[in-house]
Amino acid sequence: MPDAEIQEILTEIAAKKAKANELALEFRRLYRESQKAWADEDKELAKQLSEEGHETQAKCEALNEEVKGLYRDLKELNAKRRGLFSQDNLPSMALRGMPSTFQEAVIETLKLLPSHHISAKLIERVSYSDRYVVNPQTKIPKQAELVSWKIGGKPYIRINRQTREGFTEIEDLKIAVAHEIGHVVYRKFLTDGQRAEWEASFKHKKGDSEDSFAQCYALYYLRKEWLAEEHVMVKQFFDQLNL
Ligand SMILES: [Zn+2]
Repeated sequence: MPDAEIQEILTEIAAKKAKANELALEFRRLYRESQKAWADEDKELAKQLSEEGHETQAKCEALNEEVKGLYRDLKELNAKRRGLFSQDNLPSMALRGMPSTFQEAVIETLKLLPSHHISAKLIERVSYSDRYVVNPQTKIPKQAELVSWKIGGKPYIRINRQTREGFTEIEDLKIAVAHEIGHVVYRKFLTDGQRAEWEASFKHKKGDSEDSFAQCYALYYLRKEWLAEEHVMVKQFFDQLNL
């Protein structure tokens, strides 16, 4: 994905550098001619050439600043791309015993989330269990669960057998995985103030506020257009969280 983006930035850098070099030659020439005019005692011309030189130099320096900014963008993009598949992130971890269709769906999902949310510093791994688990109260199958969250420890995400018969909707599974990450983000990234604000504004009638946050987190990253249309306030809340 970022290859085209990186190429674009490199092209822009090359063009701006070439232009900056041209300007550098130009302002040096103007300064030289100004000095010459000064030596010839043509003060008027010397002043004019010197001013032109300064203007050109300023343009050249502004371009060099832009180039520096582009290099920073490039560095960030590269880090992002490396980060996604580095040792520190979930996609590179063992997705143990997982059917390959699930694995692909999980990796695709994780790629859509900010990479610091899926750091191995926060989440142990994603694994698969062939057990079919149903919430005893709601009778809704638990497609994925966040398991063994001990104080100070790392949880892992367990994907369960999707239906009694086996496999169902891959899109639902993606939402379920992002939902579990949403729980982690609620606990580890939100400030107390942000959690209070969420609770006050969006607490779902039946669910708890962490769970509704987790679900909206999943929708924000996986169904943003839908969220913007159906729940504009929620979408705006997530926008301003700047996660
Ligand atoms: Zn939940």
